[in-house]
Amino acid sequence: MTQTTTHTELPTDPHLRRYGHVRDLLPGPDNPTPLVRLNRVTPPGLDLFLKLEWLNPFGSVKDRTAAFLLAGLIERGELAESQLVEASSGNTGIALAALAALAGVEVTVTIPDGIPEEKKTLMRMLGAEVWETPDDLCPVDHPKDGAIALARSLAGSETSTRYVMADQYENQDNVRAHYETTGPEIWRQTGGQLDHFLAGLGTGGTITGVGRYLKEQNPAIQVIGIEPQPGHRLPGLKSFQEAKQPGILDWRVVDQVIRVDDDPAYDVTQRLFREEGLIVGPSTGAVVHASHQLGPGGIAVAISPDSGLNYMSYFAERLGDEGHPTV
Ligand code: PMP
Repeated sequence: MTQTTTHTELPTDPHLRRYGHVRDLLPGPDNPTPLVRLNRVTPPGLDLFLKLEWLNPFGSVKDRTAAFLLAGLIERGELAESQLVEASSGNTGIALAALAALAGVEVTVTIPDGIPEEKKTLMRMLGAEVWETPDDLCPVDHPKDGAIALARSLAGSETSTRYVMADQYENQDNVRAHYETTGPEIWRQTGGQLDHFLAGLGTGGTITGVGRYLKEQNPAIQVIGIEPQPGHRLPGLKSFQEAKQPGILDWRVVDQVIRVDDDPAYDVTQRLFREEGLIVGPSTGAVVHASHQLGPGGIAVAISPDSGLNYMSYFAERLGDEGHPTV
């Protein structure tokens, strides 16, 4: 997706980390997000690398999805005289809002009300209209009041504004984003020497696109999905015991699902801050915690979808008075 700007004598050059447009920062095999090895919070005998997706220009793994979704809609002419609507647990909404603003497209994001305020404010700062729904955390496909149902009903309604839904849950452009960028980046960055790939399950776009690409290169690579428990507090992840499975999630590329509880996921998130200096969101803690269940030996790559900065209100609540002794 990296585009080259030609009208300047200082054109985009990812090797120099010089870019003619913020869009040129979007990742791809020639401009990959970093892979960083864990050195302390890692199970003995396993080399675990995190792919730091929060170093993307709009702050998460969803920059990839949003770029492909928007490009697909524009190419197919679906946005002519319509505005965009999408259901999101935050990251897709943020990336879509930024990219749509650059493209001059209006966006409405439907979002469960339990998502951190930081994310809602970011979307509003980027010019999106944000509609909160009472499904608490995970955008469920609830027939009445879920974020996905609201976005679908807006897209299907005959109002004065015409809405088109990007629909990251059903749109193959989400999978394609990872098949064409994240997967090839990981293959190249590891020289093909990886044994396990781990990703949290939300829309399933990451695991399906990356898993499919990696298995085409080497079918022996183990693809592991991380699922939270029902009623969890891990934004971006979905429990399929309570939510409908997205149409794009292809279980044929998933070898194993590891279920994680919230408390160890948050404990590991805190360890990643304190022992690795990595300011990650809680779904990264969930994935790293799950990696501790893998046997020793081999190289693993796990997706770190977003930054801890967007969860400060959650963390402040969990920390309570720790570090603030009263005298
Ligand atoms: N973690 C976070 C923080 C996310 O926002 C998402 C996306 N919903 C995921 C994990 C899961 O990614 P995917 O939708 O590609 O399954």
